[in-house]
Amino acid sequence: MKKSLGQNFLIDRNVAEREVGYANITKDDVVLEVGPGKGILTKLLADKAKEVITIEIDEKIVRNLTGKLSDNVKLIHNDVLKLDFETLPKFNKIVSNLPFQISSPITFKFLEYNFDLAILIYQKEFAYRMVANYGTKEYSRLSVNVYYKAKCEILEIIPKTCFKPQPKVDSCTVKMIRRKVPPFIQYNEDFFFHITKNLFNHRRKKIKNILKELYKLNRNNIPYLDKRVEDLTPEQIGNLCNILYKILF
Ligand code: SAM
Repeated sequence: MKKSLGQNFLIDRNVAEREVGYANITKDDVVLEVGPGKGILTKLLADKAKEVITIEIDEKIVRNLTGKLSDNVKLIHNDVLKLDFETLPKFNKIVSNLPFQISSPITFKFLEYNFDLAILIYQKEFAYRMVANYGTKEYSRLSVNVYYKAKCEILEIIPKTCFKPQPKVDSCTVKMIRRKVPPFIQYNEDFFFHITKNLFNHRRKKIKNILKELYKLNRNNIPYLDKRVEDLTPEQIGNLCNILYKILF
């Protein structure tokens, strides 16, 4: 078992079956899985899907699984973060018990790809931040960026006792539906992500002070100046970004 690779294997078959059940898989679906581990989800997915593409970084796991999976499973030995998804067969669903170390980069990599539905297991704290509403302590850059790209909800909390070795914290199943159109229009998406990051880096400061310090902007015709970013909805942050974009460019 390699702790550095987030190898906390799911040992509860009921949880595994529910996880796969949430994805409503049919024989038309091509499913991507990250990290098959001992194959608990992979085998259930293979029974229902047209094809499963499963990507595993650990050579030993790949060796153990080779020859033990059905013909409709494509097992790829690679680091999922280094793999170009465009080189894979086109997949429409993602189901995974994710290695917690790569939660953030893999989520954003998924969100760049045109999938329909993802059912993913994350550590609880991360999952809470993904779906958090403004005004809560979990509301973060992650919440805003994920909201912009996807509709996201927590389906269940999975106790840490369902994994071996047992992690320190509980996990959550998260359902993510990628948006075909964003919930609000941005003049420049990169600028929106950049400003969101800077605002949340100073989440306790008023917007007017952040704008003064970072962008030397000292105007009073900008909205939300006396608010803090944690009290702005994603739509309001988007509105602020469009106004700043017009001023700065
Ligand atoms: N799916 C199995 C289960 O539910 O029991 C294993 C899940 S375990 C939390 C995460 C798996 O992802 C491990 O098999 C680990 O080796 C693999 N993994 C970790 N980092 C990876 C990466 N960057 N690319 C591909 N696989 C990775």
